[in-house]
Amino acid sequence: MKTFSKIALEEHFMMPGFEAYSKRFLSHIEPSAQRELAQRLADFDALRLEEMDRAGIELVVLSQSGPAVQAEPDVEKAIGLAKDNNDFLAERIARRPDRYAGFAMLPMQDPQAAARELQRCVKELGFKGSLVNGHTLGRYYDGREYDDFWACMQELDVPMYLHPIDAWRPLHALSDFPVLQGASWGWTVETASHALRLLFGGVFDRFPRLKIILGHMGEGLPFQRWRFDSRFAAYPFGVTLQRKPSEYIGTNIVITTSGVCSHPALLGAVGEMGVEAVMFSVDYPYESTELAAQFIDSAPLEPAQLEAICRGNAARLLKL
Ligand code: ZN
Repeated sequence: MKTFSKIALEEHFMMPGFEAYSKRFLSHIEPSAQRELAQRLADFDALRLEEMDRAGIELVVLSQSGPAVQAEPDVEKAIGLAKDNNDFLAERIARRPDRYAGFAMLPMQDPQAAARELQRCVKELGFKGSLVNGHTLGRYYDGREYDDFWACMQELDVPMYLHPIDAWRPLHALSDFPVLQGASWGWTVETASHALRLLFGGVFDRFPRLKIILGHMGEGLPFQRWRFDSRFAAYPFGVTLQRKPSEYIGTNIVITTSGVCSHPALLGAVGEMGVEAVMFSVDYPYESTELAAQFIDSAPLEPAQLEAICRGNAARLLKL
């Protein structure tokens, strides 16, 4: 089996001081696994690099573990913490710029402050885009108050990784069913719904060069493209779009394989959107690097397609 050279985009760390934000979902993990996660999240040295080496991962784009400032009610505190996090990350990247790159944390509570911080991170710190943990205290980014932010992001020509988060309030169907509220299912529904709000809210019509990255094989969206077109044509609810819904999924919305190591799912996503819309990722340290690498290295696709998924597509998107 050939080991393809890889870039990975959903790879997390924990800056000291952010632990409390992650408590809610980490509390569902058993204590010894929690300790190991904490050790891996804090490490920027041998633990991470040796695992990358074994898996053929040349570069990871690092991001703070969620939900981080997306869960911070104090706007000024969120702005300050995002800046601290981004400076901390830039300093860690500077020690190993050959192996690490960064996604900015953004205080989406204040769209203008988020735009300013994104600009600073891209222009001054060399970050490759942002990773935002879904809604901010229940606020989604399809509203017009975010148009200046999207204009800034389009101008900078960098992607946003829209990462899962707990729903602001659990769906009624899940409200008495905790096992389905988190990573097993609820995060998928929440994150896919947010991406669909951007799509059906016309954000990609107003800003046609935006790139949103969804993890976890696109949070299921690639597999519903046909149905979005069919049912939106039948029930438009007064919404008009410049293109068919399916045409935004695979162009404005691109995906990673993080946390879905299934060959049939990969082939389905590639079949729906084309190979250029799919990128490898792990979701370190919450998923196994070894398993993710074996999955992609052994995928039943042509070598040129796997080179694109493992490295080429990310290098193009992030301008590496
Ligand atoms: Zn993740």
